[in-house]
Amino acid sequence: MPADTVVVGAGAFGLSAALALAARGRHVRVLDPGPIPHPLAASTDISKVMRLAYGADELYTALAEEARAEWLRWNEERRRRGKPPLYRETGILVLTEAPMAPGGFEYESWQLLLKRGHTPQRIDPSKLKERFPAFRHRFGDGFFHGLGGYVESAAAIAEMADRAIAAGVELVTGSHVQSLLVESGAVRGVRDDSGERHFASDVVLAAGAWTARLLPELSRSLIPTAHALFYLRPRSPERFLPPRFPVFTADITRTGYYGFPLSSDGLVKIGSHGPGLAIGPDSDRTVPPAETERLRQFLREWLPDLADAAISSSRLCWYCDTPDGDFWIARHPEVEGLVVASGDSGHGFKFAPVLGRIVADAVEELPSPYLERFRWRPELRAAQFREAARYGGAPRA
Ligand SMILES: Cc1cc2nc3c(=O)[nH]c(=O)nc-3n(C[C@H](O)[C@H](O)[C@H](O)COP(=O)(O)OP(=O)(O)OC[C@H]3O[C@@H](n4cnc5c(N)ncnc54)[C@H](O)[C@@H]3O)c2cc1C
Repeated sequence: MPADTVVVGAGAFGLSAALALAARGRHVRVLDPGPIPHPLAASTDISKVMRLAYGADELYTALAEEARAEWLRWNEERRRRGKPPLYRETGILVLTEAPMAPGGFEYESWQLLLKRGHTPQRIDPSKLKERFPAFRHRFGDGFFHGLGGYVESAAAIAEMADRAIAAGVELVTGSHVQSLLVESGAVRGVRDDSGERHFASDVVLAAGAWTARLLPELSRSLIPTAHALFYLRPRSPERFLPPRFPVFTADITRTGYYGFPLSSDGLVKIGSHGPGLAIGPDSDRTVPPAETERLRQFLREWLPDLADAAISSSRLCWYCDTPDGDFWIARHPEVEGLVVASGDSGHGFKFAPVLGRIVADAVEELPSPYLERFRWRPELRAAQFREAARYGGAPRA
């Protein structure tokens, strides 16, 4: 039976879309080169930050609250099936060197969380020393929020793929889409590199950092940027376990750094949410030596117990950045039936359980405040990119 909807890409955006569309009674086919989770996909990793702190941004904060509730529900469903949780609620420590101040990410997050009835706890240097001793005291201010932590993202993708198959989605691996089939201003399907054509009345393009390859007119709006990830093996692993070492952001708008507690493999993962490197997603994934030196410098200043920890592995991973840092979930203005679901801007994974609903609303042309925000907006160009996306608003870990 031909699918009525083809989804290109089986990462967080594509699988979430497939699940939501199948729940609305559609026959969905997902295409991906595979295997799933794909080793090069942004979604494939041991952990992704799940936080409600989004500066003064109420839209993302509300969406993160919904996503957290879903992650907890998925944890519970898995518990009943004898499976370990995907979401680990370690809490999140949001730290800053200078006192939190109006207009700053930390202060605005703190205020909005209070306004929405949350109870983040203010952390000063003495509380930091007592509760979170691995962190150096130069962290002057910040807060700890118990609702947050991390998601084991590769495991979550595997779970979503299983759920999709159980819901009747056709998950086709070995299919690398090469072009869209468009006729008389409407999408008719896609063609993959084997020459096979997959016909559908609706196509959702969710190819992560590769999305603009299939739609070159978006190459100045959906911009791949590479970001370094490090997996460190600490000498004293017990110092990096929650509750004394939760997920953290370290004055993130200034340093870019954030990190995670010890994984089940005994590794502390540290990432940098800086501007990234402007190179394409098929480039070499080796981290440039300058990035490693920058990490060491950060660790010496902020987490001295990790400063000489062995780097078990490191790699580059690609965001699909938009000029304003907002997702891009929108119908193509000129090609009927084509929806783009991408532009994750380095902060999309936490929303995996709820993104699909927004994509499905786009496919079905239903109104949504999210679709207004994530609309087609080619007027924003890369020139406006850095400040707006990364440091003008909320950081996107
Ligand atoms: C270093 C790094 C750290 C991050 N940290 C966080 C975090 O802490 N918290 C958070 O919430 N988010 C985080 N993110 C963002 C998060 O990972 C992304 O928002 C999310 O994974 C994007 O999902 P996606 O489906 O758009 O892309 P991807 O996961 O990359 O999936 C795209 C899929 O499309 C497939 N594909 C590509 N081209 C084709 C084609 N031509 N035909 C068929 N299939 C194709 C690929 O194989 C892949 O499976 C981070 C991202 C990176 C890179």
